[in-house]
Amino acid sequence: MTNRTFDPQQAMADARHEFGEHGGVNMSIEASTTFTVMTPDLMPEIFSGQLGPTGGCYLYGRHFNPTVFVLGRMVAAMEGAETGYGTASGLSAIAAVIMQRCGGGGKVVSSNTLYGGTWALLDEYLPKNCNVETTFVDIQDLASVENAMKNGASVLYTETLSNPTLRTADISSLAKIAHDHDAILVVDNTFTPMIISPMQHGADVVIHSATKFISGASDVIAGIICCSKSFLEELMDLHLGSLMLMGPTMDPIVAFRLSLRLPHLAARMKEHSARAMYFAKQLQEFGQVVMYSGLPEHPDYNLFTKIANKDFGYGGLFTIDMGDAERANKLMDVLQNKFKFGYMAVSLGYFETLMSCPGTSTSSEMSEEVQRQAGISPGLVRFSIGLTGGVEERCEQMKKAIKLCS
Ligand SMILES: *Cc1c(COP(=O)(O)O)cnc(C)c1O
Repeated sequence: MTNRTFDPQQAMADARHEFGEHGGVNMSIEASTTFTVMTPDLMPEIFSGQLGPTGGCYLYGRHFNPTVFVLGRMVAAMEGAETGYGTASGLSAIAAVIMQRCGGGGKVVSSNTLYGGTWALLDEYLPKNCNVETTFVDIQDLASVENAMKNGASVLYTETLSNPTLRTADISSLAKIAHDHDAILVVDNTFTPMIISPMQHGADVVIHSATKFISGASDVIAGIICCSKSFLEELMDLHLGSLMLMGPTMDPIVAFRLSLRLPHLAARMKEHSARAMYFAKQLQEFGQVVMYSGLPEHPDYNLFTKIANKDFGYGGLFTIDMGDAERANKLMDVLQNKFKFGYMAVSLGYFETLMSCPGTSTSSEMSEEVQRQAGISPGLVRFSIGLTGGVEERCEQMKKAIKLCS
């Protein structure tokens, strides 16, 4: 299954051949919520699912929109998936997939280090409202994952890189465990588009919060689901599809804007990676505790290196541990307000550096005890390294700021 020769950049380029209406180099925006049915006899065929977007027949904007569909195809090509679909947010993509498989008494086995919103969804919202049972496990501990799967779960859920602890999931081993138990492996690949392609290692569904690196400009909230054609048909089913009926539809204008960001996603990811690597090495030499997947000291360095696509590096995120929340906050304050180094803000993948203290922000949905179990220290600061400024100057600013906080 492992395929070191998969090239997501080329795969996406091969899929991108949609001209605009008048021969424009960019595709046109299909800004219509409904579509003309040319003859009355076609209507029942569309409604019964015999004709659909692949047959050139669109029905209604919440079902399929051609512009959104093209974006989905581009991201699917990047992941090596059969098909893809755009949603209103990353979280709505996650919710729709889990609901489709587990709503009404189904079970999920999930990593215990997750994006805070996904954690709350799986820990509280879905169990309370949809009778979904979630078992959280240390996704690094394959024996405990295997053991938890014995309860009949139909979804095994993980993020490629755990948030914010930056541990790499062993996707092919997790896929094997899921498949041995007749379950699907769902992977949130938001942190590592282009860099790791989970489907090449056996994942069944890949989800992105396109709000992050795919957008790159922190200007839109959006999500993408990459999956098989048959699973997308289930999600879009007029009677039982969670996407169709809960309706987290992506606006075609958003899909169009994101489609213009994809051709330079590879170049951006390489630059994010190169800069994060520079910082990680420099800060390590400086004596600072750094967690970065690209440092040989990182516990998952070999695993990441083995499963990553060639030449994209190790991603744009790293964390440093300032010891306690007070020093973490002081560091961010100095960096933002004294050096104009970046912004104190949640989120990631922006062209400017974003920094946050996960304990009191993106992981605050977890209790202190749960955070401790997940390895989230109160002084942890997460950096999503941006693309602006000189990397050497930026790194000097960081060292100066750390000195001021010690
Ligand atoms: C931001 C994020 C989400 C949620 O995405 P939205 O687009 O904000 O709904 C899910 N997973 C990860 C890893 C994220 O960073």
